[in-house]
Amino acid sequence: MNKKNVIHIGDISIGGDYPIAIQSMLSCHPAQKSVALKQIQELQDVGCQILRVAFPDMEAVETIPFLLANSKMPIVADVHFHPSIATECIKKGVHKLRLNPSNIKSKEEQKKIVHLAKEYSVPIRIGLNGGSMHNVQTEEEALSNMQLLLQKEIHFLQEEHFDQIVLSVKNSEIRINQYLNQWAFDTFPYPLHIGLTEAGSLVPGIIKTAIGLQPLLERKIGNTIRVSLTGELRNEVLAARYLLQTFGLYAGVRITSCPTCGRCKWDVKSYVERLEKDTLLIQKSVHVAMMGCEVNGPGEAANADIGMAGSGSKAVLFQKGKVEKTGKTEEIYQVLLQRIQSYSVD
Ligand code: SF4
Repeated sequence: MNKKNVIHIGDISIGGDYPIAIQSMLSCHPAQKSVALKQIQELQDVGCQILRVAFPDMEAVETIPFLLANSKMPIVADVHFHPSIATECIKKGVHKLRLNPSNIKSKEEQKKIVHLAKEYSVPIRIGLNGGSMHNVQTEEEALSNMQLLLQKEIHFLQEEHFDQIVLSVKNSEIRINQYLNQWAFDTFPYPLHIGLTEAGSLVPGIIKTAIGLQPLLERKIGNTIRVSLTGELRNEVLAARYLLQTFGLYAGVRITSCPTCGRCKWDVKSYVERLEKDTLLIQKSVHVAMMGCEVNGPGEAANADIGMAGSGSKAVLFQKGKVEKTGKTEEIYQVLLQRIQSYSVD
């Protein structure tokens, strides 16, 4: 059951042989249009592929035409409890719903939503997380409750002959998160949305997410990913991307750089930041090193495909540890960029 069913979310597909898609979520109410617009742009600029938006009320639903007109990313409507919000989101053209059917009290309303989603070819993600469980005393209880609830939600959709299903079972405890995702992966044919809930702010959140998702990514478990972080949205996308890159699951420029020491005589940090920006959307698996000194740098970064090391206003360009060219720092940087753009893997 390694390959999961293919699901189309607007022009992004997940499952099958498709790469893991990176997603994030607006942190504002969509009726705050200028903030929403800024966040959409910020996410697009760093390569976010799917945008989730919370729709807590009808005012939010009214913004769907605006969101669709301004987002190149397909939109996932996150809906809880309100059947009319779910049906209106579908009718207004969202590309996917995140909805746990049992959150809707009436069985008839649940069925109405599912039938409409089928009619409009809108997939549904059943999204369970630790917070969906109340009054659980032990870890075992939390695990079995989440498993039972997920099975129940899936069973309901299957009974309605609905198969455009995506699953997520997230927890902020990494062992529970890992166990549940492995189980869901082994048990169901549906694509998995992976992540950790409430991971935290930038540094702790990234560390926790990386450790928590490592066993899953190593086994190629997951079809779409969100790194939930408190703070700037773009960091969610960058963190997801670098995490996937580390496991060879994302084709992009991989930059390594030295921490610098007393031998460093140029501004590595600024150049690394520039390189990150300049290569952000280049979809090529090339390993680039930015090193603090030309004496040790090329040798220390001999496993990189290409790189540069500086010394005052001069720098060297090296390939596989061998110095190829010497010149002014900016000149070498521009050559490095050209080489990355024209780089081809043998
Ligand atoms: S490459 Fe040079 S500057 Fe960077 S850590 Fe190594 S010795 Fe220090």
